[in-house]
Amino acid sequence: MQNKLKVGFFSFTGCEGCIMVMIESLNYKYAEWGSLLEIKYARALKKKNELDGDGGLDVAFIEGAISTFKEENLLRRIRKNAKKVIAIGSCAANGAPSSQRNNFDEKTLAEIKPIMERFGHKEKVTPIGEHVKVDGVVNGCPMDEAAFVKAVEDALLEFGIRKKSEV
Ligand code: SF4
Repeated sequence: MQNKLKVGFFSFTGCEGCIMVMIESLNYKYAEWGSLLEIKYARALKKKNELDGDGGLDVAFIEGAISTFKEENLLRRIRKNAKKVIAIGSCAANGAPSSQRNNFDEKTLAEIKPIMERFGHKEKVTPIGEHVKVDGVVNGCPMDEAAFVKAVEDALLEFGIRKKSEV
């Protein structure tokens, strides 16, 4: 049995406020989680990040909506490499508030068209569930911290890293 939960934290289109909540939670959970989590991908926490190889990820926590073709491709790659995908925050779960530009009027859309073309933006900003299977959601904007902590703790039990008797 593996002794650490392999996790990744990914940010797509959003303000990265949900990742900030995750970092805040480490202020009081790291002493406990440090020996239980193998953080393989988290740009906010480390310089060297891995997505492929070594059996991939147990759980990918994903913040942000999908607004570019590049993001869509990376999301599909993450899904292939992760046993479980959890959307963290409302941008990932339902698109908003990052999806505001879906409601722009024609004049505003014409103004931003050069930027959208230059950076490979898709016509619509969409939640991650429109592209890949999502196994769980932590709601909120930013995400609810207690619900995020519970999602990590549930995964530690589900993947057998920790036994119920140890909780
Ligand atoms: S859900 Fe809210 S806090 Fe999280 S990335 Fe989107 S805008 Fe930021």
